[in-house]
Amino acid sequence: MSDPEKIEKTEEQWKQELDSETYRVTRQAGTEAAFTGKYCDLKDKGIYNCAACGEPLFSSEAKYDSGSGWPSFYAPADSEVVAQHDDHSHGMIRTEVVCNKCDSHLGHVFPDGPPETGLRYCINSASLDFQEDKS
Ligand code: FE
Repeated sequence: MSDPEKIEKTEEQWKQELDSETYRVTRQAGTEAAFTGKYCDLKDKGIYNCAACGEPLFSSEAKYDSGSGWPSFYAPADSEVVAQHDDHSHGMIRTEVVCNKCDSHLGHVFPDGPPETGLRYCINSASLDFQEDKS
């Protein structure tokens, strides 16, 4: 099953292209420790791209301080750019969020977000690459 819109690389290719922490989080569904990610407290205006493939995933406009220790957004930049999967790992029932273009693990979405959508996209900094909007 091959989709021309998708970016598909072997695990070996990803391992060579990404730094070890980004590889661990995006390709092995890892989680960075709370309050350690580089974008946790960032409030600058801009767009957060996928750290693995560069796809624009989240806007700073939807970022808010959830107090969780991870960058939190109430919505993706576009509903098409992320996909969601049931995740029953670690004895929890959660909804995993992945990049729709390269299938990289981003984080999880929880139903305890702010009024705008009621959703909290809890995303690892290691899965994101911030691009500041200087205009
Ligand atoms: Fe991606």
